[in-house]
Parts: sequence; structure tokens; C-alpha cells
Amino acid sequence: MDTDILIIGAGIFGLSRAYHLAQRFSNASKGTNTNKDACKVTILDRAPSPPLPPAASTDINKIVRADYSSPLYMALAHEAMDAWAGGNPLFQDADVYHQTGWVVMDEKGSDLAARIRANFGNSNREDVSVDLSEDDVRTSWNGLLSQAELSDYGSFYANPSAGWADAARAVELMAAEAMKRGSVRYEVGEVERIILTPERNAVQGMQTKDGRVYTARKVLLATGAWTSLLMTGLEDELGLEDDDRVENQITAAGLSYEVVANLTAAGEVLPPTKDGICKFTNARSFKNTIVTSTGHRISVPSENQSEIPPKLAQETITSIRERLPQVLEARKSADDIRLCWDAISPDQNPLITRHPDPRLSNLYLAVGGSFHCWKFLPTIGRYVVNVLEGRSNGEERDRAWRWKAVVGGTQRRTKTGKRNELTTSRLAVFHVLTHVLSIPLLSALSNKELELVLLGTSFYEAVQT
Ligand SMILES: Cc1cc2nc3c(=O)[nH]c(=O)nc-3n(C[C@H](O)[C@H](O)[C@H](O)COP(=O)(O)OP(=O)(O)OC[C@H]3O[C@@H](n4cnc5c(N)ncnc54)[C@H](O)[C@@H]3O)c2cc1C
Repeated sequence: MDTDILIIGAGIFGLSRAYHLAQRFSNASKGTNTNKDACKVTILDRAPSPPLPPAASTDINKIVRADYSSPLYMALAHEAMDAWAGGNPLFQDADVYHQTGWVVMDEKGSDLAARIRANFGNSNREDVSVDLSEDDVRTSWNGLLSQAELSDYGSFYANPSAGWADAARAVELMAAEAMKRGSVRYEVGEVERIILTPERNAVQGMQTKDGRVYTARKVLLATGAWTSLLMTGLEDELGLEDDDRVENQITAAGLSYEVVANLTAAGEVLPPTKDGICKFTNARSFKNTIVTSTGHRISVPSENQSEIPPKLAQETITSIRERLPQVLEARKSADDIRLCWDAISPDQNPLITRHPDPRLSNLYLAVGGSFHCWKFLPTIGRYVVNVLEGRSNGEERDRAWRWKAVVGGTQRRTKTGKRNELTTSRLAVFHVLTHVLSIPLLSALSNKELELVLLGTSFYEAVQT
């Protein structure tokens, strides 16, 4: 099967890119521009029509916020939030985005929250964040957080501009829109092998597990946490050294989350979704390192996302108990649990670039969501299209998203922010759905509905082997 552009992976990077490409084609076909790429884009994913697990992009809900200590990501998030809030007609009437505001708690001794808020002050948007005292946190929202363990936290603020989105539905909408425009085809298949041309100077295509072959002029890997696993055979074939392998750019890391349904029984806390589901994320992330048959160490997602090491499950329950003990009054455990895998990079920048090896000059990557990139679904594809078409996204973005030099297994970092700051990993974050958004947050919040997301600190190796 031949196609001009083959996208492997229908998560946010693959779909957003397909959507923006489809949009460009349909605009071109209205004018005089006859783009020869039109109508030949294929998305290939192992899961039939998105949204389906195991993609990280498929989820109950995801946070949408501009609270970043990096100006680059704050600006990118503002751009995406404009689209979420109605700038993109696709989301305007779909009721997938909820601007709820959130409450952020920073650890004692940390200046991360202060730097984020200083960044708001320096941006071209109004800074709507407001200080909270510990007492405010305990007494607001009908005392919802009155029993929370707050002794580790030294500062608190609320930001009414943040929100959350119905992740699965939003992904589904974007996929349907990309297909509707006619230039994008969706195929189901698990890619097993990346095929080189006979001259071994370019990628010819992909072979699926069931033996189908897809050839393409350009190939984009948007394969998230599975990227290293997919690339390792090709890297072996080309004899790439460890420093030149994708594992040193991004690696698979997991996070666990638990789902508690029908919270109405617990009294004060109403569920955030229409189905009565509340999601708690345990921010302790981990890798699952294997040694490949050729001796390379790579992290790969676990196959069964509902199998979770008992220690981690217990830790997640404990983290719920420390924040919202009332949720567990009527139950001992959660109703569902998932290990969700994402590709992370050392500096939490995604990799949106062409592969640097001259023999792979038609192979592109858009991976490395690093636990924070879902919110960019409406807009990130535009930047991926630029890379595919050889255009710059501006010096700062190009530098942040390029393939980084690695020496002795250590990546040279960009200047886009300190390590581990793009996810709010040192903050505990509470999303609170306000009823009337225009009323100032402190006085307006009633615990109508609540999503609690706890983001912890450390990364640890190999809970499973
Ligand atoms: C628990 C958790 C919570 C998060 N919360 C937030 C949040 O609140 N806000 C936020 O902005 N971000 C959040 N993120 C980050 C965000 O979800 C991810 O960065 C983003 O979804 C990654 O998208 P992706 O397209 O790179 O990968 P994915 O969504 O994982 O998509 C990759 C796709 O590639 C396919 N694929 C892989 N290998 C193959 C193959 N060999 N053949 C065929 N198909 C293949 C997979 O089936 C999958 O569909 C969170 C991540 C996690 C794990």
C-alpha cells in the first residue's frame, strides 16, 4: 500500500498533525494552490479508530493549564487554551473543555510556584492567579480539603484560567474531523518493522505484524512510549551506537492512576465526569527496562495496563487518603486502575524533528509528551507539519524540540527550563469546577464537582522486569 505521508500512531501528536495537514489540503484545494500531497496521508495505529487504549492520549480527562515556569510552554499553552475555549470551532459546541480553575500547592522550600507566577506577570496575558493561605485552602469549597494533609506545602495559589478536557472525546472529535476532509485514511495494524530502501539510504515503509507493507515518501513516528521498541530493530540494522539511539532522546515511563466511581455516595465530593468518575493520579513515575536481543537497554510499556505492582497500588490509595480521606470512607480501594505510559525526555521537551542520521532523512519523530503535552492537541500538529515540510518553528522551538547531542549516555540539555519543571511535579494540584466562572474563584467555589490530581516527585527504575 503506497502513501505520500505515513503517520504511525494516533495519539495527540499523530492526530493533531493529520488534522492540520488535512486542513491545509482543504484550504489549498479551495485556492489555486494544488498541493501534490493532497489525499495521500495514512494514519496507521494498532488500535481501531481512536480513542482507544493503550494510547496515553486516551483517557478520562486531562489537565489544560498555562502554569509553566518556561515562557515557551506558557505561550504554547495559551495558544492551545484559546482553541479549547472556542477558538477552534471543533471544540466550540462539543462540551469537552471545562474551564474550572485550579488550586496549586507548592512544597516547602520550593520557588517553583513563585517562578510560574512571575512568568504569568511577564507574559502578554492578564495574571489572574490569586494567593491562598492554608486556611483558605481548608475552609473554601465547603471545607472539601479540610482534612487534607498539608504539612509538606508552603504556598498556595488559585488560577481560574486552568481547566480540564474530556480526553477521549476530544481525541475522537479531532480524528473524525481529519478523516472527514478526505485526505486522511485510517488503517489498523501493528507495525513490527521499519523497512529501508534496497540502497539503505532512506526509509521505504513499514511492515505490520500480519505482513502488510506500507510504503511512503515520508514517515512520521508518533508512537509515544513504544518508539524505542519500534526503532531498536532499525537501529541494529544501521549499527547505531547507544548514544545515537532514540532511547537517549526519549524513554518510556509509566504513571498509575485510579478511578473511583459514583462518588455521590461519599457526600461532599461530586464526580467530575457525567458518569460519576473521579480520577486520581499518583505522580510517581517509573521505567520498565529490558535488554534487547542485541544487548541494548530500553524501557518499554507493560502489556497489561491494569496490572499494577501492589506497592504502587497501595501508595496511590495512601495519596488519596492524605488528600481526600472522605473519598475512601465508603470504600477501601478504587474501582479501576491503569498504568499509563508516555515517552519522556530528560528536559521534558518533546522531540519534533527529522531523524539526524542521513540514511533516515525521510523519517520524522513527534514523540516525548513527557506527561504534559496532551493539552496541545488542538495546535501542536501545526508545528509538526512545519517540520515535515522543512520549515522552522522559530529558533526557540526548533532548539527545544530538536534531536539532542548525547555523549556517554548523557544528553546535553537545552535552556528551556530546568529539569522536571514542565510537569508540575513538585506541586499538588486540585481542580475545582466552579459553577459560575465569572465570579472570583475564592468566593465562588462550591464543591460542585472535583478532580484531584496529585503530582509527586521522583522517577524510579524498573518496578517490573
Ligand atoms: C497518567 C497520565 C496523565 C497525563 N496527564 C496529562 C494532563 O493532565 N495534561 C496534559 O497536557 N498531558 C498529560 N499527560 C501527557 C499526555 O497524555 C501525553 O504526553 C500524550 O498523550 C502523548 O501522546 P502521543 O501521541 O505521544 O502518544 P500516545 O497517545 O500514547 O499515542 C501513541 C500511539 O501510537 C500507537 N503505536 C505505538 N506503537 C505502535 C506500533 N508499533 N504500531 C502501531 N501503532 C503503534 C499506539 O497504539 C498509540 O495509539 C499525561 C500522561 C499520562 C501517562
